[in-house]
Amino acid sequence: MSAKNANLSSELKKYFGFSTFKGQQEEIIKNLLDGKDIFVLMPTGGGKSLCYQLPALISEGTAIVVSPLIALMKNQVDAVNGLSSESGVAHVLNSSLNKTQTKQVFDDIKSGRTKLLYVAPESLIKEDYLEFFKDVKISFFAIDEAHCISEWGHDFRPEYRNLKQIIDKIADVPVIALTATATPKVQDDIQKTLGMTNALVFKESFNRANLFYEVRPKVNIDKEIVKFINKNKGKSGIVYCLSRRKVEEFAQLLQVNGINALPYHAGLDQKVRVANQDKFLMEEADVIVATIAFGMGIDKPDVRFVIHYDFPKSLESYYQETGRAGRDGGEGYCLAFYDPKDIEKLEKFLAQKPVSEREIGLQLLNEVVGYAETSMSRRQYILYYFGESFDPVNGEGAIMCDNSSNPPKLKDSTNDLIKALEL
Ligand code: ADP
Ligand code: MG
Repeated sequence: MSAKNANLSSELKKYFGFSTFKGQQEEIIKNLLDGKDIFVLMPTGGGKSLCYQLPALISEGTAIVVSPLIALMKNQVDAVNGLSSESGVAHVLNSSLNKTQTKQVFDDIKSGRTKLLYVAPESLIKEDYLEFFKDVKISFFAIDEAHCISEWGHDFRPEYRNLKQIIDKIADVPVIALTATATPKVQDDIQKTLGMTNALVFKESFNRANLFYEVRPKVNIDKEIVKFINKNKGKSGIVYCLSRRKVEEFAQLLQVNGINALPYHAGLDQKVRVANQDKFLMEEADVIVATIAFGMGIDKPDVRFVIHYDFPKSLESYYQETGRAGRDGGEGYCLAFYDPKDIEKLEKFLAQKPVSEREIGLQLLNEVVGYAETSMSRRQYILYYFGESFDPVNGEGAIMCDNSSNPPKLKDSTNDLIKALEL
């Protein structure tokens, strides 16, 4: 056992340059190497990639990594290739490759030099790829962003639904599924869909103790936000709006008010979008006003505030979006503006959707409204939603929300009491 430990630590040092494992990484890797199916629920930034990258690098054969976003895959492949002196250790397989490139990938896999192959689920289904995979040595499957399997997740991808069948066709090897989405419904869905109900589950706390949560009524919102940002001058922040139009209007409004802000949404010209994102990352712009298209895979450690101009569609999305604040462990202020009328708008929007989608959407909205209107600890509310209990008095970060640092119900009733006594 200890020999193996020593081994894993030295491999960690050798490939990644880290001296210690983070959280449960070592346990996870050991069990995966022992042939177990594994399910990892760990918040963003927890270090999930290493849980499959390291075992892949030290195993015989190729690990197939299923990931939903081409941009994310490319980043990871570049990173992994940078860890090794040999070429072709990691590859992406997708439809953008030409014949020669695809052949190179296949040759590298056959030679045994490719340790990690990143694929989008829609590529994995391809008949000729399937035949090829059946004939080569696969070490294990990693399903990253596994919440994409579930309609209850915040980023459902229908192509993820059939993964289990494809995996079964290719090889009988361990599967590790990883996600930063931990609501019990999503967790259950993932395990059932992947046939992993017997998997070893590793779950880390989703508490982000350095984040402060506040909800304000949506009154004089433009002024309120300008005031907030001016108080936090020079700090990096994100303002999320629901529509592209709002993004552009509000970015302009901030600019007019002397705030160094830029817009970001999927409708902008690709060049502008990338330029704006880079300016934010390089701190040439303090604030990015964005739709939820902004953020996936963006790792700016010192985002100091995340403001929701419009309320999010689910508590899960809210957690993910606010999770971009305070990655470095420093302060992170999460401010959301709430207007019941906005929820009605979202409900109307859902009314046009197919029944199942509508029902799920409405339930997610109910939970969001509950969060907005609660007088309990917001951290406790969020963590409860993730199936985690939290002590609102002594838990880590307990006072870090509007309700806990300045309890409204308590204050109101005390005033009432005083008034009653005076009478
Ligand atoms: P996740 O996928 O869970 O969001 P990542 O895999 O992207 O997280 O890792 C987040 C960061 O943590 C990365 O910068 C990574 O290099 C770092 N990291 C991972 N494992 C370790 C470790 N054992 N020691 C130090 N840093 C680590
Ligand atoms: Mg990840």
